[in-house]
Amino acid sequence: MNRNYHAYCAMLLAFVLILVMCSQIFNGGDVFADTEKSVYLTFDDGPSDRVTPKILDVLKEENVKATFFIVGTAAESRRYLLEREIAEGHTVAVHSYSHKYGHIYASPENLIDDIDKCNKIIKEVTGSYTNVYRFPGGSYGLSDKLVSAVKAHGMKCVDWNASVCDAEYYSAPPEILYKSAIDTSKGRDTVVLLAHDSTTKTTTAKALKNIIRYFKEQKYAFKTF
Ligand SMILES: [Zn+2]
Repeated sequence: MNRNYHAYCAMLLAFVLILVMCSQIFNGGDVFADTEKSVYLTFDDGPSDRVTPKILDVLKEENVKATFFIVGTAAESRRYLLEREIAEGHTVAVHSYSHKYGHIYASPENLIDDIDKCNKIIKEVTGSYTNVYRFPGGSYGLSDKLVSAVKAHGMKCVDWNASVCDAEYYSAPPEILYKSAIDTSKGRDTVVLLAHDSTTKTTTAKALKNIIRYFKEQKYAFKTF
């Protein structure tokens, strides 16, 4: 009887210990989750003389890094901006050489040529090719044939799950872009935020500081591809 009682106590103690350990692991997991939120700031269609430097200035002031999905025809005469992006720790990635949907999406061959042409400029400026790619317009709704050709070419395709909506509005007030960034990213632990640094997107540069501060307040880590 006495021995059974001791055995029972030992089992109970072991059970309590396991419960305590589990709760510690669980709490640890929770704490980890709080610091795990990530935001990827992404800018398409640049570089432009008018907007890209302003975007870079804000990123520098806020000390965060971003990914620039460039257009080759815009970059050819603005290599200094790619050089600045790289020097300041950002990622330069392929968006398109021509950005002409009718041509690039006409066949997998056209699409791969377009990617390679853009990547050649990146290689010339940065010293290496990138495998990071964003389809003009995103991969949504594209044929499997096109998407699988790009993947077979070794490219990592990056879409987005949130947006400042600066493509939808022409010269929208910065407050509208800020609100769009928040509304579309709400509840996501990993945010890939779409924005543009092409020449007409002056209000995107104006909205950026507050957008960055919002994600900092929400304890997101800023990451690049
Ligand atoms: Zn684009």
